[in-house]
Amino acid sequence: MSLLKEAVERMAIGADHVHNAATVRHRQRQFAPLSELHPDLVTRADTVLLDELFYATVDECPDPHCRPLLLDRVVDDVWSTRKLVDWACFITSETYCGLPAELVDEEASADTVFRPSVTFRRLAAEYHNSRATNAIYDACTAAELREAADTAVALVDGLQVWGADFLYQ
Ligand SMILES: [Zn+2]
Repeated sequence: MSLLKEAVERMAIGADHVHNAATVRHRQRQFAPLSELHPDLVTRADTVLLDELFYATVDECPDPHCRPLLLDRVVDDVWSTRKLVDWACFITSETYCGLPAELVDEEASADTVFRPSVTFRRLAAEYHNSRATNAIYDACTAAELREAADTAVALVDGLQVWGADFLYQ
């Protein structure tokens, strides 16, 4: 493989550096990586990829391509996207002892600095009512999945930095 081709390949998979438990630099709150959320649940989600996204988020990776590239790969797969949204909802529920109305309700969300996307609010409401199924995710367009995944990552990022103050700053 030519050097140029190899460089392009590495860029394409965002592999010029990795994020994992061993490379994490920042002190972080006690958020469990995605692979540890319901590990007993049989899922086809790519937990290695999701954990990498988690550690990139926790470290607030300064590479502008890093998280978008990881997110591109996550939203390619409905199972992984669902696990990501479930995980963000889980962490948020732990932080606030339940999912705040600001994350599921359109009117309540309009008052926050953090504006959760429409799709995320809808999926979070399904999570809240224990009605989330893969069928709901299957029915989403690629753009909607991306929108939900972006909100999920931004939410965990915010909670990581601000804690419970995040939604009410
Ligand atoms: Zn990175």
